[in-house]
Amino acid sequence: MRAVNTVKQKNGFFSFESKDHARPTNLHRVVDNPHNLWKSTRPKQHEIQRAEIKARLITGTFILQSNAMKYNKSEVSATCKLCEVDDETREHLLGRCSALNRLREENFTRLKGSVSDDNKCTTITQDLDMLIHIILDCTHSSLKDLVVLSPEQETNIKRWSQAYCERLVTHRAQIISSKQWVYKLYILSFRIN
Ligand SMILES: [Zn+2]
Repeated sequence: MRAVNTVKQKNGFFSFESKDHARPTNLHRVVDNPHNLWKSTRPKQHEIQRAEIKARLITGTFILQSNAMKYNKSEVSATCKLCEVDDETREHLLGRCSALNRLREENFTRLKGSVSDDNKCTTITQDLDMLIHIILDCTHSSLKDLVVLSPEQETNIKRWSQAYCERLVTHRAQIISSKQWVYKLYILSFRIN
């Protein structure tokens, strides 16, 4: 029997629905059980854009200095262009770069509001590995023994982490752009003098 797929909106989310109930396909199961990232994403343009940024960070397809270097070792340095100290890895961007300290602190305050539990928030933010795990997937089974989150807290953290990733990436682009301008002006001043 040939399956006929239609797109339906359920609880605000678009999903495929197969009429071939007797023989569900793998596609059917995958589409009905999307990655956790998308479960908390509402069909709003800015939320989808945020989710895409986080998806690229999760999958390693967001180009940071460390992965740009892998493709072009002779011309690209892995060193972070913001702090110019350490290699720019995903973990460096999410939790370590000193040039993003202020933005990080502002967003940890927002996280406190999302979690509504100061002790849990302190537990999360004081352990860098745990924090990065929480940002990338707060429902991961490895976190269950370390911090217990209610379904509402998980949803709020997922939304917070998507906004946090977007703010980091936007701020990173702004800093790199302003540094490029300063460099161009520096070169120009030499030519004028
Ligand atoms: Zn850095």
